[in-house]
Amino acid sequence: MQQIKEYIRDIADFPKEGIVFKDISPLLNHSDTFNRVIEMWKERYANRGIDTVVGVEARGFVFAAAVAYAIGAGCVMIRKPGKLPYKTFSKTYDLEYGTDTIEVHQDAIDPGQKVLVIDDVLATGGTMGAVLELLQDNFKCELVEVTFLMELSFLDGREKMKNIPTYSLISY
Ligand code: AMP
Repeated sequence: MQQIKEYIRDIADFPKEGIVFKDISPLLNHSDTFNRVIEMWKERYANRGIDTVVGVEARGFVFAAAVAYAIGAGCVMIRKPGKLPYKTFSKTYDLEYGTDTIEVHQDAIDPGQKVLVIDDVLATGGTMGAVLELLQDNFKCELVEVTFLMELSFLDGREKMKNIPTYSLISY
């Protein structure tokens, strides 16, 4: 885990004052470490019968695609409004100031499919909580697990994971 943490860079006061941004760019661009992260997820999920890996815009896409490939699953994108070309389901959720909306294609997941959901960071859990509601409200799928590269555990984001098993590779 220490090896992985070495490739996550802290950027103070980004995107605004008081936030320590966890920059995964060095990790993604270090082949051994990127590979190791994907292998860890592969070990955990390869034999769970997962049909689809759902990734959350934008850094979640990088991991979702690699894990989907590694375990032989499909890949679905959760996107910001106006980016998906086909019919969508959407969910609006509260932020500290204002609201945000996420969308998914209406034909993204078939009934009964086993789904893994991935993002890079679990912070307050607001984003992933909304993603899980969007999926639960619109698809009769089985949400096998929700997983993150890292969890900022002091923010208690896990409480918003709708009782779905939650797994983070590393924790701060
Ligand atoms: P939250 O909804 O608070 O759990 O925030 C999760 C989303 O915001 C994820 O998609 C993360 O990519 C991003 N995020 C939140 N906090 C950070 C942070 N400290 N460093 C990097 N990304 C973050």
